[in-house]
Amino acid sequence: MAENQEYPQRYTITAALPYTNGPIHIGHLAGVYVPADIYARYLRLTGKDVIFVGGSDEHGVAISMKAKAEGVSPKEIIDKYHTIIKKSFEDFGITFDNYSRTSAEVHHKTASDFFRKLYEQDDFIEETTAQLYDEQAQQFLADRFVTGTCPKCGHKEAYGDQCENCGSSLNATDLINPKSTITGTVPTTKETKHWFLPLDRYEGFLRKYILEDHKNDWKPNVYGQCKSWIDGGLEPRAVTRDLDWGIPVPIEGAEGKVLYVWFDAPIGYISSTKEWAEREGKDWEPYWKDEGTKLVHFIGKDNIVFHCIIFPSILKAHGDFILADNVPANEFLNLEGNKLSTSKNWAVWLHEYLEEFPDMQDVLRYTLTANAPETKDNDFTWKDFQARNNNELVAIFGNFINRVAVLTHKYYDGIVPEPSDFTEIDNETLESLRKFPETISSSIDRYRFREAGQELMNLARLGNKYLADEEPWKVVKEDEERVKTIMFVALQIATGLAILSEPFLPYTSEKLKSILNVRSSSSTPPNLGLVENVRSSSSTPLSTSAVETSWEQVKQNEPLLSPNHQINKAELLFRKVEDEEIQKQLDKLEATKKSNLSTSEEKKNIMPQKDTITFDDFTKLDMRVGTIIEAEKMAKTKKLMVLKVDTGLDTRTIVSGIAESFSVEEIVGKKVTVLINLAPRALRGVESEGMILMTENADGKLVFMNPDEDGVDNGEEIN
Ligand SMILES: [Zn+2]
Repeated sequence: MAENQEYPQRYTITAALPYTNGPIHIGHLAGVYVPADIYARYLRLTGKDVIFVGGSDEHGVAISMKAKAEGVSPKEIIDKYHTIIKKSFEDFGITFDNYSRTSAEVHHKTASDFFRKLYEQDDFIEETTAQLYDEQAQQFLADRFVTGTCPKCGHKEAYGDQCENCGSSLNATDLINPKSTITGTVPTTKETKHWFLPLDRYEGFLRKYILEDHKNDWKPNVYGQCKSWIDGGLEPRAVTRDLDWGIPVPIEGAEGKVLYVWFDAPIGYISSTKEWAEREGKDWEPYWKDEGTKLVHFIGKDNIVFHCIIFPSILKAHGDFILADNVPANEFLNLEGNKLSTSKNWAVWLHEYLEEFPDMQDVLRYTLTANAPETKDNDFTWKDFQARNNNELVAIFGNFINRVAVLTHKYYDGIVPEPSDFTEIDNETLESLRKFPETISSSIDRYRFREAGQELMNLARLGNKYLADEEPWKVVKEDEERVKTIMFVALQIATGLAILSEPFLPYTSEKLKSILNVRSSSSTPPNLGLVENVRSSSSTPLSTSAVETSWEQVKQNEPLLSPNHQINKAELLFRKVEDEEIQKQLDKLEATKKSNLSTSEEKKNIMPQKDTITFDDFTKLDMRVGTIIEAEKMAKTKKLMVLKVDTGLDTRTIVSGIAESFSVEEIVGKKVTVLINLAPRALRGVESEGMILMTENADGKLVFMNPDEDGVDNGEEIN
């Protein structure tokens, strides 16, 4: 950037492209989308030139695998989840200026052009290597299409691209005892040609770009991970794959190959910007190519290497693009002490949350911000959710606003009163209010969203304390003039809250503005239907007499609400969350835990296969269809029953341990399978001449292996 140029002139904000093989949960929201949205809303509110882009990541092996497993096309998978994910963003007020998808034509073209340019500049290494190949499925096995033992830690189910146990990045050919996940067969190896980005060539560039230039402004967790990647030695990384789902490699001799999903996905931010520019009649290029643009990537910690090492190297190789100014990656959010997991259903799904807590988006946004995993992994608990809601949003924020609105109507018919002399406390309070925009800005500018959210709540605390100390409801009996001043001051704080809460609690801010009959002057209307959502959920329509105010004005000496301004009726901003509602959520998680446990126990209880027997061994067993014709519980035993069984050859006595599972009535006349040539043995003095075949179901109940087809007669052989 030129020293004399004002920086930044504009902002490009990206949020990680969600992968369309499932819906999104609170972990995604907390780690990426809420902070990104707070940042974008804040910049718009302070009058900055900003675009906030995202989209669905729709290529790659996992989608291809899911489609194969479900017997549908990849397109069906991505269409389904793109729709669900996009709706979740709309529902939670995530104000993307554009939300695209990597299956879009503009993206295919943009990514192909990128590849072709790097190819023509000789930025790739072309290499023919032996890759694992599934003869039965007739396809190469990259990434998740192959599992085996991790060569680093010995974990038995490592994937071809990564071991989830030790976190090592792997090549499929590194795996010990590899197995195809498509057919279960042992793969062979076969030669195939691929293109590699020689990351080692970028080491000097990355050292300067990250380790020197961003030593002080990147988060320690991000900086540290980058440093360890760079210090560990960078190696060429394949940017193509043998796969039938993705963007075809756009050069000759690359049939049947697609771009590696991690090559094309980050380019999706650029494609999404192009799509936005096309629609809005704007120029996309300054947002990606002008040095005056501040580019910020919001991601989770699992994406750091792709956004800090690989994507910058691609952009650097291309030559025309700016690099990220910051990548404020978050750590992970856990749920009630356990790692969030899609496959174990250990999550709070966004679409389910809204069914159970309708119109309470802001409560979740607030809780997730207050608990954001900014510097370490953090835990979401329902108790904390309830406490944040009841003790902060309801008891402080909501209580303050409700008092202000109700008292203003009670005393002055909703008209802002004329103040008289300000006391020292009034002046101090107004002075504190004027400092909040700076304080909150300073936290947001440093990507400290937790801190910023708590500062916002401190403003509500200021108002709540002011009213509690000044007690207008008492003073009104002796000094009506004083009450006018108190209410005037309180109304200024309420207006400050309406403006400053917009990035954090957009739905609440909109309701509050509607109560106070104000609007903010510089916030850009969001694009994802939020405006309609908010307006329709608000009972009082915005009146045309609404006064305009702004983030900047909160800092100024002039009142935000002038005397004689009419405000609207009070409306409840938050409601209490009851213990039963929290218990219901905890019960739901408990049930999930139990069902996961029983699934894994069932798996554990499956007996391993016994030693192999020969066919001759098998034919030694003489099993017949029989019928139980008499049954009697054996005296002085709990379990044993003496049965008379018609085997077709004879009627014989068999002692069986089924008395706890069946009554005599239940089994007389039942067709069963009998092993008749088992050597007789005496049980409690009764000789048993065979065995009835049974199994046990998951609940431990005995089940007869009974030939229930019609026309099977006693004595028929089973073989
Ligand atoms: Zn491992």
